[in-house]
Amino acid sequence: MNADAVLPPGMSAARFSRVLAAFESIVGAPNVRRGGAALVPYFDPFAPLADARAFAPSAALLPADIDEIRAILRVANAARVPLWTVSTGRNFAYGGAAPRLAGSVVLDLQRLNRVLDVDERLAWALVEPGVSYFDLYGYLRERGLKLWVDPPAAGWGSVIGNTLERGFGYTAYGDHAAAQCGMEVVLANGDVVRTGMGGLDAGTDAGSSWPLYKPGYGPSFDALFTQSNYGIVTKMGLWLMPAPAAFLIGEIQFAREDDLGVIVDTLRTLQLQGTIVQHAVIEGAIRRAASIGPRERWYAGDGPMPETAIAAMQRDLGIGRWNLHYALYGEPEVIEAQQRIVERAFAPVADARVMSKRYAGGEEPQGGADRNMAGIPTMSAFRMLDWRGGEGAHVDFSPLCPADGRDALRQYSLVKTRAAEYGFDYYGGFTAAGRYLHHVFAAIFVRTDARQATRAGDLLRALMSDARAAGYGVYRSHLLYMDYAAAQYSFNDGALLRLAQTVKDALDPQGVLAPGKQGVWPAAWREMRGYT
Ligand code: ADP
Repeated sequence: MNADAVLPPGMSAARFSRVLAAFESIVGAPNVRRGGAALVPYFDPFAPLADARAFAPSAALLPADIDEIRAILRVANAARVPLWTVSTGRNFAYGGAAPRLAGSVVLDLQRLNRVLDVDERLAWALVEPGVSYFDLYGYLRERGLKLWVDPPAAGWGSVIGNTLERGFGYTAYGDHAAAQCGMEVVLANGDVVRTGMGGLDAGTDAGSSWPLYKPGYGPSFDALFTQSNYGIVTKMGLWLMPAPAAFLIGEIQFAREDDLGVIVDTLRTLQLQGTIVQHAVIEGAIRRAASIGPRERWYAGDGPMPETAIAAMQRDLGIGRWNLHYALYGEPEVIEAQQRIVERAFAPVADARVMSKRYAGGEEPQGGADRNMAGIPTMSAFRMLDWRGGEGAHVDFSPLCPADGRDALRQYSLVKTRAAEYGFDYYGGFTAAGRYLHHVFAAIFVRTDARQATRAGDLLRALMSDARAAGYGVYRSHLLYMDYAAAQYSFNDGALLRLAQTVKDALDPQGVLAPGKQGVWPAAWREMRGYT
């Protein structure tokens, strides 16, 4: 990878050296990364374009505490240096730790890595940005606390980073933003705010309802700091799931491609009536197979895998064309009743194969997907990178889908057709959350192949455009298309983005915090907006 740093826009090398010297005096020289190998982690490891310098950082800073963050902000405001905050920077497939605006200084909060408090009775934790899902899980296990975390696909990411991006997991607490309660935020002007009940200056944390009751008094702000560039989140409360007495992990394999519609409709009923309360996952055959073996076992060609190869693979592996993976949690007798209801609901679907495994409370399932549903972080999602051989990478297209079988079938066929046109397999699935589904399609490519990487990026753009024409929008986007995605939310000539920019300019007049994140550009850098 070409890891040459670039200068902040409009800044001379001499001036930037002076700025870096000021940063060094705040965080100490070892905590300023200026180039070479030290800066590599701040480039996008999965860049869907030929030249990773489009999102190159100028340097990275690793502050130790809030005072250092505030001092950094003073320098950044005075010198007009754009900062890009990351917690652990594992936002792979959406840009990693790389900034939207080339030449930004990455503010890496990984050294703020304390689990500040956990309350087992009221089932919450208060964490700093550098705490990963593995860390929090380890903390709970070491202390024998009967609480579960809700891991996202890759457990090494930050709890705060994932929650702020509105990531999701697989247990009953799968909607991470919904399980968030209370934040401490450093604003661009250095002010430190605690949201909700944290605004009570009680002088003690005892009896605090900061991590219990979200709204507080007056306007609520927490959501304003998700997928935004309005502040630097330094603490966050989150609700944890009390460890259940028992659980069941089920898989139902469906034989046919067009079963997707009935799966989605049936699952919606089961979720809305409360039989299945977690984020159930509907995986396409290829995604299911990728957790078992590489593509070349069934097809070594260049274009998309043909239907005959997919059918052979399905038979070989004993998997479905669609595979529904779900969990039931609670008292064993309730679980048994729920499982009967699930089986009855899917019984009318011909050739569906039901499998289930039962666990007592403290038991640990094997296999990454099952472990995630049991609140155990894993890295098994990275197996997908082996699907096409070589050094795998992926970018994700993530449209929101109504939990309606017709919409799911429509999105599926739209994505599959367009992906095939660009030479990609439909590697995808749906995570179901009651009224909506997160449809996630991954364009898997070999990262050393610039042509393939660019093609993956082009496909993403085509998919976003197709989806918009059909009335769908993405919930998250790679750096490359943050502006394009924002422009698609175009009601009343882009009133939403105008509002976002008004708030941005009020909170961050110098535009130092994450310019361009989610398409929100501060006045100071607005001319840098651009989408391909
Ligand atoms: P993860 O490692 O969990 O995937 P990242 O640390 O890469 O998460 O964060 C994902 C994105 O969330 C970042 O690119 C940034 O835009 C935003 N972000 C992360 N941490 C913070 C924070 N503490 N304050 C404000 N924004 C943040």
